[in-house]
Amino acid sequence: MINFIFGIHNHQPLGNFGWVFEDAYNRSYRPFMEILEEFPSMKVAVHFSGPLLEWINENHPEYIELLRRLVKRGQLEIVVAGFYEPVLAAIPKEDRIEQIKLLKEFAKKLGYDAKGVWLTERVWQPELVKTLRESGIEYVIVDDYHFMSAGLSKEELYWPYYTEDSGEVIAVFPIDEKLRYLIPFRPVEKTIEYLESLADNDPSKVAVFHDDGEKFGVWPGTYEWVYKKGWLREFFDAITSNEKINLMLYSEYLSKFTPKGLVYLPIASYFEMSEWSLPAKQAKLFVEFVEKLKKRGEFERYRVFVRGGIWKNFFYKYPESNFMHKRMLYVSKLVRNIPKARKYVFKAQCNDAYWHGVFGGVYLPHLRRAVWENIIRAQSFVFTGNKVFDVDFDGKNEIMLENESFIATIKPHYGGSIFELSSKRKAVNYNDVLARRWEHYHEVPEAATPEEEGNEEGVASIHELGKKIPEEIKRELAYDWQLRAILQDHFIPTTETLDTYRLVKYHELGDFVNQPYEFELYDSGVKLWRNGGIYVEKKVPAKVEKRIELTNDGFLAKYKVSLGEPYKALFGVEVNLAVHSVMESPEEFEADRILVNDTYGIGKVEIGLDRRVRVWKFPIKTLSQSESGWDFIQQGVSYTLLFPIEKELEFEIKFKEL
Ligand code: CA
Repeated sequence: MINFIFGIHNHQPLGNFGWVFEDAYNRSYRPFMEILEEFPSMKVAVHFSGPLLEWINENHPEYIELLRRLVKRGQLEIVVAGFYEPVLAAIPKEDRIEQIKLLKEFAKKLGYDAKGVWLTERVWQPELVKTLRESGIEYVIVDDYHFMSAGLSKEELYWPYYTEDSGEVIAVFPIDEKLRYLIPFRPVEKTIEYLESLADNDPSKVAVFHDDGEKFGVWPGTYEWVYKKGWLREFFDAITSNEKINLMLYSEYLSKFTPKGLVYLPIASYFEMSEWSLPAKQAKLFVEFVEKLKKRGEFERYRVFVRGGIWKNFFYKYPESNFMHKRMLYVSKLVRNIPKARKYVFKAQCNDAYWHGVFGGVYLPHLRRAVWENIIRAQSFVFTGNKVFDVDFDGKNEIMLENESFIATIKPHYGGSIFELSSKRKAVNYNDVLARRWEHYHEVPEAATPEEEGNEEGVASIHELGKKIPEEIKRELAYDWQLRAILQDHFIPTTETLDTYRLVKYHELGDFVNQPYEFELYDSGVKLWRNGGIYVEKKVPAKVEKRIELTNDGFLAKYKVSLGEPYKALFGVEVNLAVHSVMESPEEFEADRILVNDTYGIGKVEIGLDRRVRVWKFPIKTLSQSESGWDFIQQGVSYTLLFPIEKELEFEIKFKEL
């Protein structure tokens, strides 16, 4: 006999498009539960995330009734998490408790008193034990990989264990990785064979499957396979009619058996996450290492000792994500005693926009926008005015300017540029623009073919899809040397062109873009300046001074630029805006007023100048992988205002929200 627990986790990111919700609902969430209702002896543990539940509640209330019926019939065990699907380890403990409480309340409405936690992205951190216990949680589900990282062997992982922290214990169920690769991608009998092979005389032995519900219909090819070819019905039928398999739910298991013993788990997530969370260079080495072990036939034997990075280091890998995360933490503290504002903080904690693996994540502008929208809405409850502090914990102070309409965060140590320009009226951060960067999977090794069961019958899982960058993308692909902000100060040779500039094949003469500026706050704004240089045959001293003042509808920047001796160059002020309306090709033109009309993004804004200048305008497009292949996504649009300089220059830029 072997006990078997079958669980799924259904989630759509906050900010995802309505049609994505609808499509996933029709391809997976709805048919899955409808078929479950046909098999009264089938039981499933299920987690629904808050953003998805709120959408369902609004668009398909009949589905909530279906869930209620299934709970009543004992076919569903509801497993919770933080309501808006945060990575629990990445949010303050006060917020963890409140978020879990919110989802427990929802489960109660479905008729279920939830005691278990689906650990979002399975990001484990030992100190979670205490918060989970405080939230009335008795068990948590993680990967067998976590246990193997702790030194346990695979044979020991067909039981839950206790883990302890600060004198509190909690039961932990290991998810069987083998089942994650079999279900639903391989024929049903493969799973049955595997489960049967585990059966022995120990009545407490249990195999756990718990994975994304989207694998049942949303992932490429799976709708056809799972529903049209009848995989799910066949599976439910086979599981419920097999005498060697005893289907169970988590709570049922824990009412019959106690966990096998005590283990301590390291900070970990699933195996693939340990690859993704590494900085790109190291991730490439990691993949090489794994490939080497596989070629030598040694991977299975030594894999428990193979570990990459940890989830939280996405904040190291993507500074834009870190900045967003630390802004969220700042607001979380700021509004902790304002329940109305806290709801927005919880939404801003939704994990998807903060990282990147096989889904777009941080690369998806609409997901980041949803996070920023909620950070801004939450902060709008409290007015703090101008201040100087280290927002993103990098050891260097930022300047946060605030008036009735805007919050602007300036990094004096990084070009004195604006890294956040948040409009309270529109709840949008105009500078939510991701830089173009190299990812380790941009170089695909020749022999990147599906391994192990790749040639068997079934449907390819995401990890097996072959990839090669199309030529038309390669031509336009460029990697930035700088983060993208507003008011980045360039010195450019007069011979450079829009193409060399946007494809990062130009020569930057100055040392201003990512270098420190000194600053001084005054009543209505901040003065920033840098004594730097332009580097030609010899260094020509150069000074850039800018005064930035927030206005009711944007900001005003007053520039003074001077060279120590005459030199002919272009002084370029770059303004990166989170414009999403697709820009087909780069543009060069002259103007004294640039009108931006971005219907689905930042809306209407205007950049006004006190003279006519040449403008280089181009879309910033990043290359990332997704479940369907390559995404070449417009993160925003760069506008560079070009001022000829020989010795001295003074001008003004006015940014206006319309
Ligand atoms: Ca800082």
